[in-house]
Amino acid sequence: MTETPAFPSRLLRGYTAFRDQRLPQESARYRILAETGQRPRTMIIGCCDSRAAPETIFDAAPGELFVIRNVANLVPPYDPDGEYHGTSAAIEFGVMGLKVRYILVMGHGRCGGVQAYIASRDAGPNAPEEPSAFIGKWISLVAPAEQLVCESPEDAAGRQRALEFASIRQGIENLRTFPSIRNLEEIGEIELHGAWFDISTGELHILDQATGRFEVAKG
Ligand SMILES: [Zn+2]
Repeated sequence: MTETPAFPSRLLRGYTAFRDQRLPQESARYRILAETGQRPRTMIIGCCDSRAAPETIFDAAPGELFVIRNVANLVPPYDPDGEYHGTSAAIEFGVMGLKVRYILVMGHGRCGGVQAYIASRDAGPNAPEEPSAFIGKWISLVAPAEQLVCESPEDAAGRQRALEFASIRQGIENLRTFPSIRNLEEIGEIELHGAWFDISTGELHILDQATGRFEVAKG
């Protein structure tokens, strides 16, 4: 019989630190949130990447952010086809159930998902058989963003960044394919935003939707 694995010690240490330090300061807040339910004003669609956690980057307290994370912070277009759509389900809940005011699509630098898309695109039809059951199909959602690339840098890193930016623009466009979001945006009850986090410097670049450019946040 296989031995039951012990709970990972790093997680246990982290929880102990949370319980002893942060929880005492926030216990009242947790109690109120438990009694009254969550009312986050902001929904964030971010990447699973361990270096780009929205709660850390925005210094958020419990109950403040409704966060959806997936590979490459992608927003699928509205497609109610009866299949399993985890990201769309969470978006629907944030908009219809929680009535969030802001939706932020947040990308980041050196995104492995975008990099994998570029690698499979460049390999073309001669690519070796896709070893993944799910990632290849999922990251094909990046493809339409190629039309929205604004910059044309010389180097591969710059080109990847340009596609990361474009994919955020595409994500916002795809949010607008959800009828509820389109309607709420039209009547001014929801705002869509884009941002990109530079994991090497910690800079946040905010999408200026008038120009389509990303500018470093000043604040
Ligand atoms: Zn990523």
